[in-house]
Amino acid sequence: MANHLMATYSRLPVAFVRGEGAWLWDSDHKRYLDALSGIAVCGLGHAHPRVAEAVCAQAGMLLHTSNIYRIPAQESLGERLCAAARMERVFFGNSGAEANEAAIKLARLRAHRRGIEKPEVLVMEKSFHGRTLATLTATGNRKAQAGFEPLVQGFVRVPYDDLQAVETAASNRPNIVAVLVEPIQGEGGIVVPSDDYLPGLRALCDRYQWLLMLDEIQTGMGRTGTLFAHSHAGILPDVMTLAKGLGNGVPIGACLARGEAAEVLGPGSHGSTFGGNPLACVAAETVLDVLTSERLHERAGAVGARIADGLRAALADLPGVVEVRGRGLMIGIQLDRPCAPLVGQALDAGILINVTAERVVRLLPPLIIDDAQAQQIVDSVAQLVRRFLGEQAETADSRSL
Ligand SMILES: *Cc1c(COP(=O)(O)O)cnc(C)c1O
Repeated sequence: MANHLMATYSRLPVAFVRGEGAWLWDSDHKRYLDALSGIAVCGLGHAHPRVAEAVCAQAGMLLHTSNIYRIPAQESLGERLCAAARMERVFFGNSGAEANEAAIKLARLRAHRRGIEKPEVLVMEKSFHGRTLATLTATGNRKAQAGFEPLVQGFVRVPYDDLQAVETAASNRPNIVAVLVEPIQGEGGIVVPSDDYLPGLRALCDRYQWLLMLDEIQTGMGRTGTLFAHSHAGILPDVMTLAKGLGNGVPIGACLARGEAAEVLGPGSHGSTFGGNPLACVAAETVLDVLTSERLHERAGAVGARIADGLRAALADLPGVVEVRGRGLMIGIQLDRPCAPLVGQALDAGILINVTAERVVRLLPPLIIDDAQAQQIVDSVAQLVRRFLGEQAETADSRSL
């Protein structure tokens, strides 16, 4: 039946038909605990009553007009989002990649206005910023880029969490105009940088008049324990991109900016047919409402710390476990070997997890999980990892016999 879909995904053999909170049910009525949230999308869980109600009401009223006209729901969301993020203006698109495209275009346009003809954006190794040509170029993963050359010009890459490398780039590349970086690398393996990294980048951006552009598409909307991950570092970016958790499953992306960066894009410089349509904006404003009024980010911080501690304790004696790390409900378990088969084994066991960067089990549960569900994540994942490493050891033993 899937023969007419382009084979862009190697899909697991399951289809979910219904969800409620952190639970999902497949077409055979089997229940699963969702510890992935559609990759950090459904932060409020599935079928959240307030989001469902808002989306239904809006669908019965008005889905789409056009950005040719004023869109009150977009203006209202823009105001709420900017207040929450201490930003000034926002452009709405439909995805993370589009939010980052807007950021890259904004950085280039500002540079051209300053007389820099060939601006460069500094990006990081092992980063992920999307699949469009510019965001794929910004992405620090050669495998994802292979075959799509020629890539887009105007990017310079340095290792993540390495301020010295940024300083060196600053002295060698006079045309750098912005830094695009994830506060915590998601696809790269839940890589949490040192505490001085973001403040250090902020200082360098100020010194060289670069824009600090934070890709908070995975880390934003409460996931790491604060509304946006950069708050942990006590800094503000000039530009911030959001998507994933913003609409809880309704597609929406946002590029926010403050100060001079907020005034760069003008009429005719950028646009989107669907971006910021009433349906998506009403969904996102409801998400922001629920998130802030129920202080779900604080809950994510507390529950996430408990899950990480629980996993550390349960896996402490396993030499195959390198590290449990993360922040809030963005948790990675680094193993010493590739572990992709764990995803299918977890599925059989009734829990949804993910493996990224080959060796990192990634957990991104919805922010609304209760204590029992959190404990179930610890117990199931610890057991799965233990069994996986045990099986591997046995295979190695039998081979050496
Ligand atoms: C998922 C993701 C993107 C891309 O978002 P899409 O909506 O898939 O285009 C970009 N940056 C980060 C950090 C992401 O996690």
